[in-house]
Amino acid sequence: MSIDYFKHRYGYEVEGMWMPRVTAITSLISRPFFAGSYRSAEWGNKVHYAVEKILKEEMHEAEKEIEPTLRVFEQWRKEYTVRIISPKEDIECKVYDFENGYAGTVDMVAEVQGTRGIVDLKTGNAIRDEHSLQTAAYLNAYNKGVQKKLQAKTRWILRIDQYEECKGCLAKRSMKSGKERISGGNEWCNHQWSYAKGETEFVELEGKEEDFQAFLAAKEVWEWYHRAFLRKVANYPKNVMQKVLI
Ligand SMILES: [Zn+2]
Repeated sequence: MSIDYFKHRYGYEVEGMWMPRVTAITSLISRPFFAGSYRSAEWGNKVHYAVEKILKEEMHEAEKEIEPTLRVFEQWRKEYTVRIISPKEDIECKVYDFENGYAGTVDMVAEVQGTRGIVDLKTGNAIRDEHSLQTAAYLNAYNKGVQKKLQAKTRWILRIDQYEECKGCLAKRSMKSGKERISGGNEWCNHQWSYAKGETEFVELEGKEEDFQAFLAAKEVWEWYHRAFLRKVANYPKNVMQKVLI
């Protein structure tokens, strides 16, 4: 891997400094732990793109295959009286923490039933532990970059997904970007699939301090793992390099 490719793959340049992306760091935790788990980046990108268009009230024709997911997204917005104060700034919002040396993109900053917080959108079949670290890092970086009255008080995960259900054995089938995954039910059943139904999970995460400390620890491990590259990245803020690199 060349240094340029490394920098492009794992981070951003902000004001002349290169900083790793939050998700590059947290993927260290997810990868070994959830080896073999099913996720589709293509699907996730489609849903994120459509949601961004909806929230910004921009014209966009959503692809048919993600409609059940978008429908539950709309239901969630109504049910929780979700308000985006400033769609331009509060959606796909880039955040940085120069002091701790990392960067990231927040899906949305929203007022949910009157409380301002960070909402991270997930399109997989479960909420994972790594999401706690990711959102703690976002919350911390976001709050460093805004005035006190705009600060986010909390963080939530909004998981929106869709599946078909077998009318006979209740197995679930997920079809994402052409990839099929069947779970539960009876493997001998000659499945009769329903139309795709959307499902929502909306969770407020507790313990942001403890999660943020764990994120910094993960970052230290990440830096150790990539030490050979990081030593060659001239504009990596050395002051934030954790112990292993100094
Ligand atoms: Zn069946």
